[in-house]
Amino acid sequence: MGLLSVGTPLTWDEAKPYVEHVHYHGITQFLNIWDRLKDRCGDELLWGDEVEYMVISFDPESKNAVLSLRQTEILAQLQPAASEIDAKTDNSISAPTFHPEYGRYMLESTPGSPYTGYLRDLLSVESNMRYRRNLARKHLKPNEIPVTLTSFPRLGVPGVFTEPYYDPADAKSSQSLFLPEEITNPHARFPTLTANIRRRRGSKVAINLPLFIDERTPRPFVDPTIPWQRNRYPEDSEAKNGAALIDHIYMDAMGFGMGCCCLQLTFQSCNVTEARRLYDALIPVGPIMLALTAASPLWRGYVADVDCRWNVIAGSVDDRTEEERGLKPLKENKFRIPKSRYDSVDLYISEEWMNRPEYNDNPLPYDESIYNRLREHGIDHLLSKHISHLFVRDPIVIFRELIEQDDTASTDHFENIQSTNWQTVRFKPPPPNSSIGWRVEFRSMEVQMTDFENAAYAVFIVLLSRAIMSMNLNFYMPISKVDENMAQAQVRDAARSSKFYFRWNVFPPLSSRASSAHSSGTSSPVHGANGVLRVKERRMRNCYPPIPPPEEGLPHGSVDDEYELMTMDEIINGKGADFPGLLGLVESYLDTLDVKEAERRKIGSYLNLIRRRANGTLKTPATWMREFVRSHPAYKFDSVVSQEINYDLMVAVDEIERGVRRVPDLLPEDYTGGEQDQGCLEK
Ligand code: ADP
Ligand code: MG
Ligand code: MG
Ligand code: MG
Repeated sequence: MGLLSVGTPLTWDEAKPYVEHVHYHGITQFLNIWDRLKDRCGDELLWGDEVEYMVISFDPESKNAVLSLRQTEILAQLQPAASEIDAKTDNSISAPTFHPEYGRYMLESTPGSPYTGYLRDLLSVESNMRYRRNLARKHLKPNEIPVTLTSFPRLGVPGVFTEPYYDPADAKSSQSLFLPEEITNPHARFPTLTANIRRRRGSKVAINLPLFIDERTPRPFVDPTIPWQRNRYPEDSEAKNGAALIDHIYMDAMGFGMGCCCLQLTFQSCNVTEARRLYDALIPVGPIMLALTAASPLWRGYVADVDCRWNVIAGSVDDRTEEERGLKPLKENKFRIPKSRYDSVDLYISEEWMNRPEYNDNPLPYDESIYNRLREHGIDHLLSKHISHLFVRDPIVIFRELIEQDDTASTDHFENIQSTNWQTVRFKPPPPNSSIGWRVEFRSMEVQMTDFENAAYAVFIVLLSRAIMSMNLNFYMPISKVDENMAQAQVRDAARSSKFYFRWNVFPPLSSRASSAHSSGTSSPVHGANGVLRVKERRMRNCYPPIPPPEEGLPHGSVDDEYELMTMDEIINGKGADFPGLLGLVESYLDTLDVKEAERRKIGSYLNLIRRRANGTLKTPATWMREFVRSHPAYKFDSVVSQEINYDLMVAVDEIERGVRRVPDLLPEDYTGGEQDQGCLEK
């Protein structure tokens, strides 16, 4: 969520006069970063994960599992406790960091310091995540547990779904029919974000997820839990007037989306050029990993016909006006904007020859005056397009005290726009006054129930990022196809039943492969594919030579011949002789490292999870959860997730994480679980 500013937040009407000011100075601040750091080079691989938790409060008597709204108190204890532990012990894990998140029931944790490229760090991810989870557990009440669940199944149901209970009637920021004001982090930024998105948009956000129609679901399904006749705010009539669709799960507030949890990874690149290359390569990987990590089939007390959170969050912060959404002619606003500010990436930005202009085939609204200003400053076409595209969005929260800034020292105005463009991958310039370099953040994955899984996906993406860079891999395909994949990724059972577009020839032309050979290290030499003698290293590197263009000239055939529809199994595990699959690429990269036997086994257990989730011998969390509900004795085959079913599911999630409950259709047989003695119900 970035740093939380303090001050007086402006309402949307008060903020409007400063929008252009923020845009102008935001760009000035970016240009200052650019001038200072565009030539920064040689940064090592540093990387880190972000894991988000929901704190669940269990009441065994009433058999209810609800969201504990104690974020503020929990963090007040946890943050100092975490740093003390670091000072007291000689633990090899540095003090983790805990952050607040949008939901007042949410926590986020990151490793205390980023991991490096050394293999030992790669192998410490799981224990680091466990350590963080256990630390959080220790600072909760005996009946509370931090769970890594993407969406809470009963967020927004009538009745009690939080501890303490609050009435949604007072939801003044969101004016939601379902979520009380107190669901939101009380820091001024969050209620203001919520209210200003609604005010800017001109109505409440409206999310309609298709309902999973079961054997006894009433048809047409007109949701009896929507207070259709409520008449508190003018917005209350929206549901009745068409915002809520039949046969859908209707959600009307930011909290439904920003109250979800995810797993994110950030990588530091050697320099800005490599960051742009990695950013581009991860764009087509985004929807694939969303489908593979799918973990959110249950919403507002119902089973949905989708498996992922993405469109819910996109809808939950969609501040576009009717003009911007194309429902009215442009009068007040400048741009038609096809997507929410939380959505998939619209533009590849690398200047390498592999990035053919044909791949950028999405409509791309951009601010022409900002584009021109960037170009006049000497910034290339693609990066100027990228930034001026981000800047079609308005700042949603402006703090009065922070309007005037020193643009040489601050990047607040730039970050105001940058950090509220929530896309599948984020290109992050170095922050001012820090040692941090150019970074890329991978943001599409759903958080998994266990740290074994979260570590597996983190390790997989780190290794994939290294495979991409060291083997000069080419994942480009038209970005409109990535968007088609994004839609496909969210449908029920996509990992097993859907097909996705993916590039089949990912290898560079032969002449460019030679450049990817490593040259230094300490361990045993091996022959690379090109016969060059290489040395195996214990460390994953950054900093690769530029990719030479093919000797036979730049590619000019139709880009539509470069990709095809593949199953998840094919994309991950390979298809035919040409395409080794993402796992095959990762394995090849691992072969270039000096990996000890035991390390290989551990990494192998992670890759095995990925392999089996992709080939369908293990279920995605979404499929497993849907089946849990449908096979629960209290389920009436009416698409409803009752209080009792939800309670049993939350108990199961905790037991699975601890290894007390075995689920061989979800996790490999050798999964042993987190700390056995930390369970909530036994505490
Ligand atoms: P945000 O919420 O803005 O994405 P966070 O601070 O929550 O940012 O997370 C940043 C992540 O980046 C953490 O996992 C952290 O370990 C990692 N990180 C910190 N420094 C670096 C660095 N120099 N390079 C790469 N990753 C870093
Ligand atoms: Mg977060
Ligand atoms: Mg974060
Ligand atoms: Mg992040």
